[in-house]
Amino acid sequence: EKTDVGEVVHQVFNNFQMIHPDFAFTLDDDLKEPTVAKIYRDHLEQILIILCDNAVKYSTERKEIHLSLSRNLNQVEIGVQDFGEGISQDNMDKVFNRFYRVDKARSRKKGGNGLGLSIAKRLIEGYRGSIALESSAGYGSLFKVTFPVIQENIKSLDD
Ligand code: ATP
Repeated sequence: EKTDVGEVVHQVFNNFQMIHPDFAFTLDDDLKEPTVAKIYRDHLEQILIILCDNAVKYSTERKEIHLSLSRNLNQVEIGVQDFGEGISQDNMDKVFNRFYRVDKARSRKKGGNGLGLSIAKRLIEGYRGSIALESSAGYGSLFKVTFPVIQENIKSLDD
């Protein structure tokens, strides 16, 4: 299935803005034209929901979430940034593991099973994409997701 990545990001952005009026969401869209990836729309939506849900869940005083969309060569990159509690160096790889939660004691208060990111990563990699994390404890987190883009000029060949 071919999905317009920008369209889905805008949709999830609009939904989160509606659901979380106490947050300031921004979307920095650098895409100049429709950018299509070979991915199920529902899967892309699920990935974005997991990342945005986490951004909301792990924000602290500064309730701001920045989404970004950009393209370089044949990759589209989606950024989800929060300014919450962040993730320490030690935990950066582990958060993608199943059932891993940084703060186990708080698991009841913030909900969750530690599955979201492992599901997101598995989906992303299934589409030959990648997920990267930049974070430092106390300064928030930036998740960057990339997918290969279907080149419009060669699209007719594989249709
Ligand atoms: P759920 O299964 O509902 O998604 P979860 O949020 O605990 O629950 P993951 O999404 O897999 O599970 O995240 C794993 C852990 O990574 C979280 O418990 C949290 O400690 C940490 N984490 C994830 N996203 C962020 C974020 N944006 N900021 C800080 N910590 C995060």
